[in-house]
This record gives sequence, C-alpha cells and structure tokens, in this order.
Amino acid sequence: MPKPVAAFDRIGEENAFAVLARAGALAAQGRSVINLGIGQPDFPTPPHIVEAAVKALRDGHHGYTPATGIPALREAVAADLLARTGAEALPDRITIVPGGKVTMFTAILMLGEPGVDILYPDPGFPIYRSMIEFTGATPVPIPIREENDFAFSAAEALALMTDRTRLVIVNSPANPTGGVTPRSEIDAFVAGLSRFPEAAILSDEIYSRILYGGAEHVSLMSYPEIADRLILLDGWSKTYAMTGWRLGYAVWPESLIDAARKLAVNAWSCVNAPTQHAGLAALTGPQDAVDEMVSAFERRRTLVVDGLNALPGVSCRMPGGAFYAFPSIRESGWKAKALATRLLEETGVALIGGPDFGTLGEGYIRVSYAASEAEITEALGRIETFLSRSP
Ligand code: PLP
Repeated sequence: MPKPVAAFDRIGEENAFAVLARAGALAAQGRSVINLGIGQPDFPTPPHIVEAAVKALRDGHHGYTPATGIPALREAVAADLLARTGAEALPDRITIVPGGKVTMFTAILMLGEPGVDILYPDPGFPIYRSMIEFTGATPVPIPIREENDFAFSAAEALALMTDRTRLVIVNSPANPTGGVTPRSEIDAFVAGLSRFPEAAILSDEIYSRILYGGAEHVSLMSYPEIADRLILLDGWSKTYAMTGWRLGYAVWPESLIDAARKLAVNAWSCVNAPTQHAGLAALTGPQDAVDEMVSAFERRRTLVVDGLNALPGVSCRMPGGAFYAFPSIRESGWKAKALATRLLEETGVALIGGPDFGTLGEGYIRVSYAASEAEITEALGRIETFLSRSP
C-alpha cells in the first residue's frame, strides 16, 4: 500500500474548512445554520471583475501565461503598491500565485529545514505552523496578546530571534484576532532586525485594505532597509471577495525570486489566464465596491462586538481590521473547542475555537463577521440562549 513520506505526518489542517463542511452537512439535513466560521467575504465578486474574466475567455485567453503571471498584471500590482505604500516594487520581483496561501507555502518550503527556527504569530493563521513543521524547521511562536490589543510586539519577537532564525512571519491586520500592529511597533521591529541580517521576513498583508476607524496599515514594503529579505504576501481573496478564484501575489527579494519562479514552473505552471485578467480589472477599475464592503464590515463589527460583550462571561476587544472578533470566553467556564462544537451541533452557529489558531488561543473563539447583520443578530441570540441554559 502506498504511504506518504513522513513529512506528511507533520502537516496540519485548517479547521475552518472542516467546520465549513460540517455546517454544510447540517444545512443539507434541513438545519438552520449560520456560518460565522469561515473567513471569506459574504459578498459576490464585483460584476466588472466577473465580466473581465468572461471577456478574457471570449477573447481567447485560454493558454498558459508566463509562470510568474501576465506582465500587465505584475505591472498593475507594482503600481498599486507604489500608490498604497510608497514602495517601488519591480514587476520582475512579483509573482502571481493561486491564492495568498501559495506564497506562504512557497516561502516556508524555500527557507525551512531541520536545524533552523521559523517564528510565527500565536494565535495566528494555522497554516504557518503546519508548513513549518512539514519542512522540519522548528516552529517558534511569537505570543500575540489581548492586553496588547492583539498587536504584534517587536520586543517579544526580537527577544525570540537568534542566529538560528531563518524566517519571521508577521501578519497585520491579523487573523484570527483582527489586531492591527501600529507603526511604532513596526519601526522598532525593523530597527531590531539589523542585528539579525540573515533572517528573512514574510509579511502577510492579505487584510491590508480591510481597516476600520482610522486604523493605519503600515506595510513592511515601506522599509527599504529590509527590501533584500522581505517577502510580501497579499492578494485579491479578501479585498475583492474573490476567495474561490484563487488569486494572490508575492513580492520576493532578489535572492529568492528565481526559486519562486522555478517552484511555480514545477508545480502549477501559472494561475489560470481569465482569473489573472479579472485581477487586472480589480486593480485598475473602480474601487467603490471595496469601500462599500469595508463600510458594511465596519457596521457589523460594532454589532458583533457589542453583542458579544453583552453575553455572560464573554468579553471582546474592538478589532482594528480584517473581519474577525476574538472574544475571551474564559469567564464563561467553557473550553473554546467544546463550546464551538456544541454551538454548531445544538444551535447551528458555526464559529472556530481559538486553539485552532495556536496554544495561546485557548480561552477564545473566533467569530467571523463576514455575514449579514440579520444573521449576526440571530446568531448572537442563539448563543445567548445556549449560554444561559448550558453549564
Ligand atoms: N493569510 C491569512 C492571514 C489568511 O487569513 C488567509 C485566508 O484566510 C490567507 C493568508 C490566504 O488567503 P488566500 O485565500 O488568498 O489563499
């Protein structure tokens, strides 16, 4: 019987997909399910973007493209980065990839091996740790703390770095907490990096456009002193409600771009051509739909945070970005995963237990507010009823 090599015993999963499947199965049985589990906008992709893909198909864009993406799209990404961060990214250093996750996969595969450390946020996106373990590198969690408003702490990250540190992963605005790291922390982090010239940085900025209440997104792209070791991860999934299209981009330092291109040639050849044309329309077309989505998320943010804070034993900070609330449920007496399971099975409300995002996630749940206001209100009511009658 064929068996995968041992590294696959170490690969993890993203429980949000298992919850999505279970929620779908319950809905198929006729149960009323409200999904606050998966992290994807509940809006359709804006119509002009869809039309660009249809047009690309009609215009005959059916073949392979360059492995790193069509030149016009890489140029549009560079122009967008310049406008948003002031950083001059060369189109030749940009790769168009099938989703932001692929940048994570590529970067960690490229830099991870036994004997080196890779630092990652905890709680954080579960795939970081899973991929680090896959490569045999040692995963070193950087604590992300509620008392710090879930911002990344430069001092804590730098204190964990040694000459074994090969890669540091940072993420702001963050999943699962919605935390946004302020400029002062990022300045301090970049300044401290001068002591570790061999360490690469993977900055996951997939939620860079989803910010509220004046919160500022500070891109690591805007620090030229680390340009020779920065990998930027961003994409279309969250900003343009395009999770199912599978489209993202990376900016690589000169020393890594060739490896990134070669992995693309070996593994996926290119992102499908019409999707790349859709991505081009997204970047170069009107941005009103993005603004409208962010305004809708902002209204829901208040609804969800106020509603959670009114629940017994629950307290929730106001997140500055992304579309997640990460309330503490410690005072409720519940263990996070048990609560998430019981809520789904007994009330039909899908959300994710904090431990799915790391050891520091115990005592928290992640509530995605990429759902309508009516659904959020109904879900909060069901959770309240559940908490008031269950131990
Ligand atoms: N990075 C973070 C922090 C995410 O939360 C996600 C998706 O949930 C991704 C990256 C991957 O996004 P994509 O759908 O573009 O692969």
